[in-house]
Amino acid sequence: MAGGLTHPRPSFAMRETDFNHRQSRGGVEHGVYLDRALELAMRHPLRRSSHDVDLDSARNRVLSHSLESLVDDPRFDNSAMDGFAVRASDCITPKVELSIVGTSQAGGDPPPGISAGEACRIMTGAPLPEGSDAIVMVEDTEVRGDRVTINGPARMGYIRKRAENLSIGQEALPTGALLSPACIALAGTMGHGVVRVIQKPRIAILSTGDELVQPGVRLEAGQIYESNSHALASLVEAMGCEAVRHESANDSLDELRDTLDTLAGCDAILTSGGVSMGDWDLVRRIMEEEGEISFWRVRLRPGGPPLFGTWRGTPLFGLPGNPVSSLVVFHVLVAPWIAKSLGYHEEMGPRLSRRVSVTLEEDILGAPGKLCMRRIRIRSEDGRLLATTHTHQGSGNMHSMVAHNGLTLLPPDTDGRRGDIIEAMWIL
Ligand code: AMP
Ligand code: MG
Repeated sequence: MAGGLTHPRPSFAMRETDFNHRQSRGGVEHGVYLDRALELAMRHPLRRSSHDVDLDSARNRVLSHSLESLVDDPRFDNSAMDGFAVRASDCITPKVELSIVGTSQAGGDPPPGISAGEACRIMTGAPLPEGSDAIVMVEDTEVRGDRVTINGPARMGYIRKRAENLSIGQEALPTGALLSPACIALAGTMGHGVVRVIQKPRIAILSTGDELVQPGVRLEAGQIYESNSHALASLVEAMGCEAVRHESANDSLDELRDTLDTLAGCDAILTSGGVSMGDWDLVRRIMEEEGEISFWRVRLRPGGPPLFGTWRGTPLFGLPGNPVSSLVVFHVLVAPWIAKSLGYHEEMGPRLSRRVSVTLEEDILGAPGKLCMRRIRIRSEDGRLLATTHTHQGSGNMHSMVAHNGLTLLPPDTDGRRGDIIEAMWIL
């Protein structure tokens, strides 16, 4: 915790956590902490490969190799202003008059050099004439024929020196950086017309449940609109991967098996629903009976039931069906797995959230034995980030994920009190 303020809960809380945790049956670890879950998932990382794209197609792609500059930036000493290139020593007395020997223009012929008592007209970005060491802004000059009167300061600071930004061979864009517009411009500045980026892994998304119907269609009794696959697809894409969204599967082992077999050709599979304790939790059952499970249940609230394993060798996350839970588990488990697998840069790579320290404006209950991620609204005030809660926190309440913009990261068995500074995720 950021402020070191923790409020341990009394031990009656442990009753809630005594489900099989830390047990391992048939190689399956049950009730693991988040760190352990990520460690186990990393035994089956996404495969990483790369390909070349030109700069026009590089937006939001991720660099697979660092980029070094192919040129000095700037390439030569040049002017930061439109004006006159002069010798500073000529311009010490006010209203000095110099004779104009020519013009230096960006992309033009090499300019003439200047001697004492001379000046050369110069444009922004044009090379500095031999013999000059300062620039006078055009606003501070008065031209009469081939003579110029200097009415303002001659500044060396208006010269952009060769390689003052970057030298040839200098690495300026690291491996794993998300190519923002500024990164793309810098790649161009450095002379790269083509950049090598990480191939987008194809991640299959499969919702499960007899009750699910795609939005936009008339509902029959007992049916609800399916939303998880849409949320997961956009999260997958925000993490730099290609989402392969499949229509939702019914709660039938045969249908599930056939669909999973089809999707096993992708680089990974995300399912939602069917991983709890119920009789109809068939993702868990089919993975137990026919797949390989590394862990089942993670000590998270919300989002306790996820499992991870492989189906026909393809990594598979079985995410909870409750809409908030599936989103939250993606944030804390799947996104870091993608980022680590593909070697995303910690600061500059694709990410969905930022870790921040927030001051609680109200008491917030933690969870016995689990990392507690309550939805919070984070706002900046007087140089601090303040956190409050608004709507109710049910794991089926998707509106709460929109009414809030963050999640607490209260450690297991720890309540937050008004005024505490705690760690949180600010969702971007
Ligand atoms: P399950 O884990 O399958 O028992 O699902 C838990 C809850 O989440 C149930 O109320 C489901 O109706 C709901 N649910 C499961 N999958 C989805 C989905 N794809 N979209 C919206 N709600 C879902
Ligand atoms: Mg279900």
